[in-house]
Amino acid sequence: MMKGFMIDLDGTIWRGNNLLPGAVDAINYLRSKGKVIFCTNASSNTPQIVLEKINRLGIRATKNDLLTTYVVVLDFLKKQNKKCYFVSTSHIKNMFSNDGIVIDAKGAKIVVIGFNEKSNYNDYDTAFRLLLDGAKLIVMNNALTYPYSDGTHIGPGFFVNGLEKLTGKKSLTIGKPSKYYFIAAMKMLGTDKKYTYMIGDDLTMDIKGANEFGINSILVESGTHSKKDVNLENVKPDYILKSIKDISSIIK
Ligand SMILES: [Mg+2]
Repeated sequence: MMKGFMIDLDGTIWRGNNLLPGAVDAINYLRSKGKVIFCTNASSNTPQIVLEKINRLGIRATKNDLLTTYVVVLDFLKKQNKKCYFVSTSHIKNMFSNDGIVIDAKGAKIVVIGFNEKSNYNDYDTAFRLLLDGAKLIVMNNALTYPYSDGTHIGPGFFVNGLEKLTGKKSLTIGKPSKYYFIAAMKMLGTDKKYTYMIGDDLTMDIKGANEFGINSILVESGTHSKKDVNLENVKPDYILKSIKDISSIIK
C-alpha cells in the first residue's frame, strides 16, 4: 500500500530561517517510502512565498507538494460568498481579493483572523465590533504561541481567545487541526488513512487533528511541544521522536 506523509514546516523542518539538522535527508527518505506533502498553518505568507522558502532552504518541491491554510480558507470563503473583514498581512488580503473574495470592513459578515505581527488596536477593535454586529469568526491559525529561531512568541490564538471572550462567540478554525484542512490534505495525497502519517511539533494542531481525522500521528520534539506536554494537552501521539532526523526508526 502506498504510504502518505503530511509534514509540518515550523518546528518540524525549520525554526525561523534555520533548517533543522537532518531534515533534508529525512524528507528524501520519506519520499523513497511514499508520497510527501508539506502541511503548514502559516497564514502570514502566500503559498508562493512559503514554497520559495522551502526551495531556498534546499528542499525540492513544487506547488503540488504544499498545502497552506490559505488554500483551504479560500475554498471555504468562496462557498460562503459573503463580504469579509481580514486581520492579516496585506499580502494575504491581496491574494484573497485577487482570488475573488470581497474584502470590506463596512457590513462584513465574516471576520477572518490570519496572522500579522503589525496588526494593531484598530484592526482588532474593528473585528470585535463586526462580531458584535453578528459577523462570524473564522480563524486561519489558532496557535497560542509559535516557535522562532530566538525562542517562543505570542501567536494569533491569543487574540482569538480575547475576541471569543468579549463577544461570547465561538471561532471556527479552518487550518489544522480542523477537518477542513485534513480533508484537503488527504485529497492531495490520495492514500488510505491507515497508511497516512502526520509529522509535526504541535500537539494541539498537528497531532490532535491527525488523531481526530483518523490517521497516524508522529510528534517531533524539535518545536513547540515535547513528551512532557502530552498529559498537559491531553493529546496522545502514536509516536514521539526527538526530531524528524530519526524518522527511519518508525517508517520502515
Ligand atoms: Mg509546527
